[in-house]
Amino acid sequence: PTSADYIGRFAPSPSGPMHFGSLLAALASFLDARSNNGIWRVRIEDVDISRSVPNADKWILDSLHAHGLKWDKEVIYQSARTDAYQTIVDNFLAAHQAYLCTCTRKMIRESGGVYPGTCRNAHHDLNNTDRPAVSVRLKLDNPVTDFADRILGYQKIPSGHATEDFIVQRKDGLFAYNLAVVADDIFQDVTHVVRGSDLLETTAAHLSLYRLLGKPAPRYAHIPVAATEPGYKLSKQNKAIGLDNSRAGENLVQALKFLNIAVPATLVADNCDKILGWAIKQWDCDLLPKTREVIVDKSESTY
Ligand code: GLU
Ligand code: ZN
Repeated sequence: PTSADYIGRFAPSPSGPMHFGSLLAALASFLDARSNNGIWRVRIEDVDISRSVPNADKWILDSLHAHGLKWDKEVIYQSARTDAYQTIVDNFLAAHQAYLCTCTRKMIRESGGVYPGTCRNAHHDLNNTDRPAVSVRLKLDNPVTDFADRILGYQKIPSGHATEDFIVQRKDGLFAYNLAVVADDIFQDVTHVVRGSDLLETTAAHLSLYRLLGKPAPRYAHIPVAATEPGYKLSKQNKAIGLDNSRAGENLVQALKFLNIAVPATLVADNCDKILGWAIKQWDCDLLPKTREVIVDKSESTY
C-alpha cells in the first residue's frame, strides 16, 4: 500500500514519563505502520489538562526519539483543538443528537452505575440562567455493540459499556476523551488504530460516534497491556518507572519479547534502528498474543 492507505498514530496522555506500558503501544503502532509502508503520527492527548504533568510531553517525545521511533509530520496537541470539539458538541446539540444532563455521579451510582438516560427527555435548557452544572451526553439510539479486532477477533461489547448515553462534554466544560479521540482520528485521517486492550470496551462508543458523524471508522488492533497482577495495568498511575533512555536497545528487545517477537542474540546489542528495521520485517498481527493482558515481573528493572 501507499502511505495514504495507512495512517497510524501513537496517542499518549502526558501524565508522566514514558514507561514500559506506553513503549508497547508506541512500538506496536509504529511497527504496524512501517510494515504497511504507512504514516505514523504522534498526538499528545492532553484534553484533560488537569491531569497533564508539565513537560511530560517533552519527556515522551525524547523517549520516542531515543528509541528510534521517528514519527511523521508535526505532533498535534488536543489542548489546541478545543474549538473543533466545541463545534462537534454544538452540532450534536442543535441536531438533538445530544442533550444536557444534570445528574450527579451519586445518582448514577445509585441507579446501578450505567447511565439510564434520565435526562433524555428533560429538555434542560442552557439559557436558563439559574441552571445547575450540566454535562452533555450523546443520545445513542443506534449504538454499535460489536466489531472485528485485527488481533483479538470478533468482539461483542457487554451492553452497559456500549449502549450508555456517554458524556461528550463534562460539567467543568472539558471535553471527554471519547469525543476528542474520535474527533482527532478523523481530523488526522487515521486509518489504523493500534493501542492497549484497556480501551477495548470503549471502542464500541467510539464506533457509535463515527456512525453519528457519518465518517468511516479506522480498523482497530488491541495489544495486551502489561499488568503487575491480574486486573492491574502497569501505568503511570501505579508508578511504573520511567524508561531509561540510555538503555533504549534493551528496552526495545524486552518490549518485542512481550509482543512474542524474540530478537536474535546477534542483534540484541545492536542500535535501535537495526533492531527496529529487523522487527518491521517480522511484524505480523497474527503472531501477537491474543490476550488482554500479560503479567510482567515488576522486579525486572525496565518495568
Ligand atoms: N491517550 C490514551 C492513553 O494514553 C490512548 C488513546 C488511544 O490510543 O486511543 O491511554
Ligand atoms: Zn441526567
